[in-house]
Amino acid sequence: MNLTIITNIIYIIASILFIIGLKRMSSPKTARNANLLSAVGMLLAIVATLLTKGLEFEWIIIGLVIGSVIGIFMALKVAMTAMPQMVALLNGSGGLASLLVGWASYHFTPASSLLTTVSTYLAVLIGGVTFTGSVMAWAKLEEKITGRPIQFAGQKIANSLLLAVLVIGGIIFCMNPAGNYPLFLIIIVLSLVLGVMVVIPIGGADMPVVISLLNSYSGMAGAATGFVIINSMLIVAGSLVGASGIILTQIMCKAMNRSLKNVLFSGFGSVKKQSSSAVKGEIKALSPQDAYLVLEAARSVVFVPGYGLAVAQAQHVVKELAELLEKNGAEARFAIHPVAGRMPGHMNILLAEANVPYEQLLEMDNINPTMETVDVCMVIGANDVVNPASRHDKNSPIYGMPIINADKAKTVFVLKRSMATGFAGIENELFYYDNTRMIFGDAKSTLQALVTEFKSGH
Ligand code: NDP
Repeated sequence: MNLTIITNIIYIIASILFIIGLKRMSSPKTARNANLLSAVGMLLAIVATLLTKGLEFEWIIIGLVIGSVIGIFMALKVAMTAMPQMVALLNGSGGLASLLVGWASYHFTPASSLLTTVSTYLAVLIGGVTFTGSVMAWAKLEEKITGRPIQFAGQKIANSLLLAVLVIGGIIFCMNPAGNYPLFLIIIVLSLVLGVMVVIPIGGADMPVVISLLNSYSGMAGAATGFVIINSMLIVAGSLVGASGIILTQIMCKAMNRSLKNVLFSGFGSVKKQSSSAVKGEIKALSPQDAYLVLEAARSVVFVPGYGLAVAQAQHVVKELAELLEKNGAEARFAIHPVAGRMPGHMNILLAEANVPYEQLLEMDNINPTMETVDVCMVIGANDVVNPASRHDKNSPIYGMPIINADKAKTVFVLKRSMATGFAGIENELFYYDNTRMIFGDAKSTLQALVTEFKSGH
């Protein structure tokens, strides 16, 4: 068997592993194993690629060492809540790699087929936008630049013009690639500028959706690069990333009840939004000691974790409380909203870190029909994802967003530090409902106090 056939067979195996890995990512139960399968697929793909004749290994080794050191350092240093920024940087690196490969390929063989030329152009264009767009997303989330949308008069026209120049320049370039190096360089620069321009008008809080979209772009740029260097593995892997990124973006938008257009062009987060219907009722605060008495008698408890759980790092102590409740004869479950927290799967990751059994994690659609039978629903640092205004207040910015029906439980405990709003910047009428009790304080301290009560049994 010759080397090309062996390489292609390994590529097919790696592709299958990627696809199975992606499929298995859809459940927390199989996600770890899915990661491993995909990693094995990637290892196979790398090994097969290294079999290519004529490689200069000294450069590959230098790149490998530098990349590994940076990767290990970043992975060890990153805080769970800073994961979206890290993903942004990784997407950006993918985009930059596609841009550089496209550039290098054009530099050494400027007169190639139309397919290669168009692919080179796309790799550079999408790669460039992905790179600077991701750096901007990172800077917004890290607060290196303002997280507020940066908008100016004529911005949309300027962006449209920029895009038009890139498209026309691309057509001219593809018609005569060999004699158009300066135009190629202009395309690179304008692609980089476009990445900055499309991300700055978007609010920092919308960055996770943007990052998911940029992730998809990095895949598309990778697939285009696959056509440039005629590598089927890169085409397959890039297409998988491109498609899954766009599906995730769609899921996130749907769960936030926003269109992608609204995320990209509305400048959400520039003004604090206020629900138009006035919130009525009074706030009833409860101490953890009194809350314990209710919990002690409860037969069914549902936890609704949100962004505040991540801030408080309360995942371990909530697991401990769930265990104590089960020991006490109650059923303890966790209701997971698709956009709770600040990144997709945020709550799943946190609770998996604390080894909460997967059977206790229920998706919104599965838990909601049972909420009326629940004795106590404990909302832990969640706000928007349990706001009943989404069901009836047409003027609310979250109107139509599916929520976890915490309010349907017999008693609702809300653990948060103050009456401050969440991501959407709106009041939550749930806090004023007759069956709601507010337990003010840092979620971890409150949960710890409840655990102490259970352990001492009073
Ligand atoms: P929210 O942002 O609505 O609310 C979080 C709440 O946590 C706040 O009201 C805050 O209140 C409380 N909190 C913060 N720190 C603590 C702490 N240490 N202890 C206790 N409470 C704390 O979070 P949700 O998870 O309910 O909703 C997520 C929101 O983010 C949605 O609007 C969603 O659309 C949006 N979003 C989600 C993305 C995702 O991928 N998951 C991506 C982009 C946006 P207080 O300050 O009073 O403590």
